[in-house]
Amino acid sequence: MAYIALYRKWRPGTFGDLVGQEHISRTLSNAITTGRIGHAYLFSGPRGTGKTSTAKILAKALNCEHGPTPEPCGKCRACQKINDGSSMDVFEIDAASNRGIDEIRDLRETVKFAPVDGRYKVYIIDEVHMLTTEAFNALLKTLEEPPAHVVFILATTEAHKVPPTIQSRCQRYDFKRITVEEIRGRLETVVTEMGLQAEAEALDMIAIQADGGLRDALSLLDQCSALAEGELTAARVRQVLGLIGHDWIYKLTEAIYARKAQVALGVLAELLRDGKDLKQVLTELSLHLRSLMIYQATGTLEQMDLYAEPDAVLQEQGKFFDTEELMAMIKRLHEALAEIKWSPQPRITVEVALMALCNPTVSGAVTQAAGAAVDDGRIAQLEAKLSQMAAQLAARPAAVAAPAGTGKPAAQRPAASGQGTATRAAVPAEPMPQAEVVPITASDAEVWDKLLALLKERNKMPIFACMNQGQFAGMSDTQFFVKFKGVLMADLAMRNYRTLLEQLLEELTGRPLRLHCSGEDTPLMPPPKPVKKKAAPPPPPEEPSIHVDLDALPPEERAPLEKAFEIFGDHVVEIEDDKQ
Ligand SMILES: [Zn+2]
Repeated sequence: MAYIALYRKWRPGTFGDLVGQEHISRTLSNAITTGRIGHAYLFSGPRGTGKTSTAKILAKALNCEHGPTPEPCGKCRACQKINDGSSMDVFEIDAASNRGIDEIRDLRETVKFAPVDGRYKVYIIDEVHMLTTEAFNALLKTLEEPPAHVVFILATTEAHKVPPTIQSRCQRYDFKRITVEEIRGRLETVVTEMGLQAEAEALDMIAIQADGGLRDALSLLDQCSALAEGELTAARVRQVLGLIGHDWIYKLTEAIYARKAQVALGVLAELLRDGKDLKQVLTELSLHLRSLMIYQATGTLEQMDLYAEPDAVLQEQGKFFDTEELMAMIKRLHEALAEIKWSPQPRITVEVALMALCNPTVSGAVTQAAGAAVDDGRIAQLEAKLSQMAAQLAARPAAVAAPAGTGKPAAQRPAASGQGTATRAAVPAEPMPQAEVVPITASDAEVWDKLLALLKERNKMPIFACMNQGQFAGMSDTQFFVKFKGVLMADLAMRNYRTLLEQLLEELTGRPLRLHCSGEDTPLMPPPKPVKKKAAPPPPPEEPSIHVDLDALPPEERAPLEKAFEIFGDHVVEIEDDKQ
């Protein structure tokens, strides 16, 4: 018999089977009972929370031979065809691989025809946010005048990327993360019905690791039970999932408490030799510190979706640090977690983080920072970078020119503008020296313009404010280059915004592009290949165009910048109004 993955085998068949989404199953059941069936639904929520399953149940509820019924039988011809994906009336489209206009045009053609053997034609569009703008527009036309026999179910993990015009035509259902308790309950049912034996702690670990997604939980159970002979033990789960395990984490915590950096780095080295993942080390250490913090505050870990930990350890290690220290340490670990994503040497990043936790003075500084709104260390860093930038500006003619073909007048904010802004005398600008410039073709520059426009359109103002200070510096088939006047904004873009920007670039060009942002004083890495196409005429000189809309920045980014502006005042940047 063919092997069927657990999550398929245990896919819910009725609204009653849905785990953790009672609010949705109740509303949909009522709608079917009362015959108030919408033409378009938007299911949004994290992965693995039952969106596609619900869509299929709804399709069956509408087309079951004994229906429409909130409890489709699952046995009639219509139900079975929907189950095995052979129904002529239910269409599943994966927008992640069919993003384009053609698919949606096809869809618009077929919508017109009556259902083949059911009552409704149901179109399930998964990951709908991946559709291109043109495809969305085409879809919108259909949603505006849907034939009576058609139901659209749009599923997405990122509802904010679905245009408002589409959203407003859908009934929206938000799927929530499934709780650890609910996942564990479901795992217990599955384990019992399959006749498996499993330790309670093993199921706990899987439920926590699945992070709100039932599908992931069942896949993990699948992996662990495939290897386990006899009982599924906690040790086995830890091995399969690459978990670090309590003992190691306790050792690390002790080393940090004792300020023994060498021991901490030794533990890290041993874990890495053992094939453990850096991210996992940081994650489990921060989870343990979180447990200590919560235990300190409440005296128990129950109802907190945490790994079970022995009271004796929590009592002992709970005395190591006070709440403020724990908060600062967790914050530091989370920073390291974010940093290793782009760090060229992730191991060093983690070592630095551990050293900082072990070093009393650094830890002290971190503790202060957790309480204060502005981190002195970051201010000092910003000051250094800004003075470097100012020196460069003074030393040579400004080399950042406007992107070719934008032609938009820079709207100057009046001198007497609101708080948090500063103006300065214009630095004379001239086109970049040709040697440093990758020839930019009109269509390439268009991508850049579109990127900026898209950021505005999606209301990503902090990112827009950052990128608007950069200058498009060319692109190849796989790479996309942006230059900034200084390293500060380039760093910010690479560190915080790269993932999103690369997603948008792919959305715009239809191909994956690697983003490279660099400050003027560092060479582009790697050096861009010369572009074959004809170079555009050198862009006309323009007023320097650094745009920082402080009001659009989140407070934690705004505060240090404001401080920096105080220090360097009128001589560093020019602030313009981004709203045009
Ligand atoms: Zn049926």
